[in-house]
Amino acid sequence: MRILAGLLAAVMLLCSGCARSVPETASMEASSSGAISSGSFSESGPALAPEPEPESIPKLESETEPPKPEPEQEPVLPLDGRIICVDPGHCITPLVSKGYKQPLSPLSDEQKSMYGRGTQGAHLSEVELNLIVGLKLRDALEALGAEVVMTREVSELTISLIERCEIADKAGADVKVSIHADGNNDHSLHGVSVLVPAAELLGTPEIREESVRLGELMVDAVAEETGAHNRGTKARKDLTGFNFSTVPTVLIEMGFMTNPEEETLLATEEYQDKIVTGMVNSLLEWYGAD
Ligand SMILES: [Zn+2]
Repeated sequence: MRILAGLLAAVMLLCSGCARSVPETASMEASSSGAISSGSFSESGPALAPEPEPESIPKLESETEPPKPEPEQEPVLPLDGRIICVDPGHCITPLVSKGYKQPLSPLSDEQKSMYGRGTQGAHLSEVELNLIVGLKLRDALEALGAEVVMTREVSELTISLIERCEIADKAGADVKVSIHADGNNDHSLHGVSVLVPAAELLGTPEIREESVRLGELMVDAVAEETGAHNRGTKARKDLTGFNFSTVPTVLIEMGFMTNPEEETLLATEEYQDKIVTGMVNSLLEWYGAD
């Protein structure tokens, strides 16, 4: 027994540098024999103990944590990623009536007056009304996710029709919507119409088809919302703001400021909101987003 115990002790000492390789059965046998010194046993003891698994603790902790809420996703809005140029017509400039001219079309030498005052109602001027509705339209379109580029957000400024086209072009707008109101010496005339580019003199002929499509949708939608007389669309070749546009474009004539009944309606927020709703609905339909 003594010889056997000695041999075992020698094996243990030889293996002290690589205690983990000692088979468990050997230490069990040695222990049971009672012939191995406590020193040599204690040397191999800790090494033989199962190593703690470091991952187990955080794993358990993570299991007890409440599930993390999903990161909140922005709702997808119907006009996300769309860029719309809103162009309230006219401006108040000291250059009006000073004889400044601009070309009618990049395809023509004909010159047209650069700045126009617009028409006038009993409650509002056209330049004011166009801006009021333009800002309402901006807010409504932005609420639906669109990026809106305004050609003007004040009335007192000097901006030409070609500059308005350049704003839409530089912004990469999908469409430019010009906002106007009608005036006529015949005060009985009333109703909404939308002007669209004619093919003739159009610098970018490719914009015509989509302009006409939007114009038809818009006049129907605004007439439906407001109950105004639907005067339809009119193709125009004499508008610099169409002929220089590189993006599809329409011009709404919201109603006649020279018709007392219609002008009274046009001056109310309720009626303005209906116009905006119709315009927004037509844009949604034009984009196929409704
Ligand atoms: Zn106008």
